[in-house]
Amino acid sequence: MRLFTATLATETNTFSPLPTSLDNYKESVFFRPGEHPTDAPRMCTAPLFVGRARAKAEGFELIEGSCFAASPAGTTNRADYELMRDEILDQLKKAMPVDGLLLGLHGAMVAHGYDDVEGDLLLKARAIVGPNCVIGVELDPHCHLTMKRVSQADIIVLYKEFPHTDVVERAEDVLDLVLKTLRGQIKPVMSVYDCRQIQSYPTTLQPMRSLVDRIMAMEGKDGILSVSIAHCFPYGDVAEIGTRVLVIADGDKKKADALATKLGDELVSLRGKTTPTYFNVKAGVGEGVAFNDLPVVIADPADNAGGGAPSDNTDILKHLIETRIEDACIGPIWDPIAVRICFDAGLGAKIHLRFGGKIAVTSGQPVDAEVEVIGLKRNAWQRFGPTQVPVGDCAAVRVGGVDVVLIANRTQATGLELFRNVGIEPTEKKIVVVKSTNHFMAAYGPIAKKVIYVDSSGPLKRDPARIPYTKVERPIWPLDADAKPRGLIF
Ligand SMILES: [Zn+2]
Repeated sequence: MRLFTATLATETNTFSPLPTSLDNYKESVFFRPGEHPTDAPRMCTAPLFVGRARAKAEGFELIEGSCFAASPAGTTNRADYELMRDEILDQLKKAMPVDGLLLGLHGAMVAHGYDDVEGDLLLKARAIVGPNCVIGVELDPHCHLTMKRVSQADIIVLYKEFPHTDVVERAEDVLDLVLKTLRGQIKPVMSVYDCRQIQSYPTTLQPMRSLVDRIMAMEGKDGILSVSIAHCFPYGDVAEIGTRVLVIADGDKKKADALATKLGDELVSLRGKTTPTYFNVKAGVGEGVAFNDLPVVIADPADNAGGGAPSDNTDILKHLIETRIEDACIGPIWDPIAVRICFDAGLGAKIHLRFGGKIAVTSGQPVDAEVEVIGLKRNAWQRFGPTQVPVGDCAAVRVGGVDVVLIANRTQATGLELFRNVGIEPTEKKIVVVKSTNHFMAAYGPIAKKVIYVDSSGPLKRDPARIPYTKVERPIWPLDADAKPRGLIF
């Protein structure tokens, strides 16, 4: 048995002021055959990681293709997308004949001229491998689950957790299902239900926590092979945006249809009920200061680099400085120029620094302050569940009672290393501000005595009705208050 694996992934915020080019992939994940790290998967490369670990014992040969992934930002440059796509497809042609594909994609990638990158890639891959090859795909739940891609794949499995701590487990699921299909033990059939809604579904909060637990318990029983919820990615202006349910059953399409419908209807009943309360900056910080234990973790989801934001909005930072909050830290602020200046100044230097507030109107105004450089680290990284995320060169500066982590590689707060790399201990701070929507909860949830979500003036509007879509199919909730679910679409 011969399986081919590759990764092409990013989450495209089509409204982001930061375009995505080959250089952004080179900064994050850019591994050609023979270059893949062996210690841990990087971003969407778990299928390769899992396939490599199991190939020998399970009697298949894994042919490793290229893996490309970039931090979320704006639309990918067309020529760069075509270059990466064609490199993978050329590798696939050379690898033929293959029995199966294991693709680690994200699912919300947009390139100029390609609103459905994954659909395009799968269509071209299917043309190469033919109808009998089993195509297995792992996607992020913040994807656009388009009919083009569903019609080309045999097995699609999405991460269930948000924060995405289960990327390796779900890659194991994809491989399990591909192998069982190839061995003739199962006949996967997929059903998709379209809820017609745009919403965020953190699985650390109820009611999603219990829904995900129930879904997990359904798998592997009564002919149900896999259940996925495509949460949607609200910041991609594409036609097929929105929450969808995907069920894979063993040979029984009616069974898959029935469960997809039941779960889809349940998600429709949860409109407006899955997101946390968002405070304004003043009220959120006030809540944190008034709380009598530490640390209080305050999230800034509107400036989450993981959703394509620049991560240099200064609303919360300025409020902390101006109200003279003590024992606070905040990160990451993406400002490679300020990082460079801090390295040039050296550890312990007291300098005048302008930082943050640079990229767009939604970044706010920069901070101008006398700072002390209290930490420096080159080529730093942070954990995200089982994966590693590079943050590049980092500098920590102290302004009054506020420690600020400046980073050179734009990414969100996922691991405590973000602060510890530069000598800041988040468990000892009164207030820890993180730029992240919910991925921070994997590491910061366990240390937080209280978690507060704040809606700053960053670019990721929490209310989808305020996002200036032009291509999205209507009606869809909450843009259209009376949008009815479309029901089964596959
Ligand atoms: Zn995601």
